[in-house]
Amino acid sequence: MTLSEKEILTINKFSQNDQVLHLEIGEYVKKMFTPTQGKSLETQIDEIANDFSQEFLSANNANTNIDIDLIIRNFGDSKIPTQPTDFESYFQSLNENIIAHSIHTSSPQFIGHMTSALPSFVRPLAKLMTAMNQNAVKIETAKTLSFCEREALAMMHRQIYNLSDNFYIQHIQNNQSTLGILVSGGTTANITALWCARNKSLGAKNEFLGIEKEGLSAALNFYGYKGAVIIGSELMHFSFDKAADLMGISTQNLIRVAVDSNNQVNLQALRQVVADCHEKNLHIIAIVGIAGTTDSGSVDPLEDIAEIAQENNVHFHVDAAWGGPVIFSQKHRHKLAGIEKADSVTIDGHKQLYLPMGIGMVFFHDPYLASSIEKHASYTMRKGSFDLGKRALEGSRPGMALFLHAGLKLIGLKGYEFLIDEGIRKTQYMAARISAMPEFELLAEPDTNLLIYRYIPEQFRAVIVKQQFTEADNQIINNFNEYLQKMQRQIGRTFISRTTKTTISFNKEIPVIAMRAVIANPLTTEEDIDAVLNDQIQIASEISNSYFLK
Ligand SMILES: *Cc1c(COP(=O)(O)O)cnc(C)c1O
Repeated sequence: MTLSEKEILTINKFSQNDQVLHLEIGEYVKKMFTPTQGKSLETQIDEIANDFSQEFLSANNANTNIDIDLIIRNFGDSKIPTQPTDFESYFQSLNENIIAHSIHTSSPQFIGHMTSALPSFVRPLAKLMTAMNQNAVKIETAKTLSFCEREALAMMHRQIYNLSDNFYIQHIQNNQSTLGILVSGGTTANITALWCARNKSLGAKNEFLGIEKEGLSAALNFYGYKGAVIIGSELMHFSFDKAADLMGISTQNLIRVAVDSNNQVNLQALRQVVADCHEKNLHIIAIVGIAGTTDSGSVDPLEDIAEIAQENNVHFHVDAAWGGPVIFSQKHRHKLAGIEKADSVTIDGHKQLYLPMGIGMVFFHDPYLASSIEKHASYTMRKGSFDLGKRALEGSRPGMALFLHAGLKLIGLKGYEFLIDEGIRKTQYMAARISAMPEFELLAEPDTNLLIYRYIPEQFRAVIVKQQFTEADNQIINNFNEYLQKMQRQIGRTFISRTTKTTISFNKEIPVIAMRAVIANPLTTEEDIDAVLNDQIQIASEISNSYFLK
């Protein structure tokens, strides 16, 4: 028997006879895989999905105000349906239960996270990528795409390190070389970078076979160290905790050095920590510099950190997951000066390269460093092959290189420069607005396109301006900001995220709860920024009375 396309779309009755049912379902499921011409099942679903997607993308508010409890109740089913669900009702429920209450990350007034709008070309490209279904782990499942990936990574590498034409001719498609690795995100990129640093610095020597074969304790024993550490600023992303944990050095040995009031690592303290580690006979696997902290967008003094790392012969890693693409801007790239001295650099494609989620990258100054993590398998990943999976943490991996390649070609250097410059320009606009408004306090001058500030309830404005507030005042302001941010999120018209910043006041460290704006969406206008701030003022005035009477 064969089912018509229309039947497939709406069918919800299957035979009661088990044997017939088996055949029917077999036919039905096979149909899902069969490409057809004309008004096929696929084109019908595509139309539905397109409508949903258009509607979703044109929404103005940041979110709906649906309660989390209701969502939880909607997703309490632990049974897989016995029979296939018909497409029409499934897509209907998808729309009502999932799409309708998803976060409008592309709304121009959703300016609180690093996830933002995407250029429209990525959506059809996503379809194409799924149609091709390449597995980037090896040549036998991703032939041209492996070389396309290497090319796109080389373009980014050149943007960071700017080495000679000859260098790129020699390494771009050389299976012994790894200019970069495409991974699923900044977390995996950071882990990969530190993994390479660890294996290289505790590698094989004389009778010792290397940490990879003999493990951490044997390595420390052989080299005569008491332990191993990773050092960076206290604002290091929590992916470094994961890395320290996985690498077996313990999260306690991820040493977080204090930052100055500008959120940059304190260099004197960093030098002291390095000296202390030598004193205590601790092996330093890497020193990390951050180019765009997740918290406030600040950039560490990379030149100085590079110098400290070099003096001590330690691997220098730069986490530029967020801030990396600032190198595209002639006007602002000086903020990342020193990044070219890094042994490894992390950049996220799904942040400021405006590509879909699932694109992280790690780059290496030394094209042979990644051989320290190389693995082989008998059925594939042979020595000397071009299989990308042999020097990667991940195994099977989608052809995300397609997006990176397309982004670099279709947007280009000048396009990315515009996007970066615009984000920073609008952030400076927002900072100026905040400084001029009595309702707000700017908590740090923005380095890039992240901004932290807070709302000041009316009764505290005078003492804040005079810097005469007490610790108790600060606590009340903190609580109010936390409540305000939650209310704004719940109402859902606009969105700003929240973070906690420690500052030195009253001669001790006190927590300051801050609003955190991320201005990345190219369609966010100055009017949108004003609207978000005004929304906060309105919500604050609505909640003020009831809040302070509590
Ligand atoms: C986002 C970010 C990460 C983590 O990247 P994911 O893609 O979320 O895994 C690491 N470091 C910094 C500075 C980041 O901004």
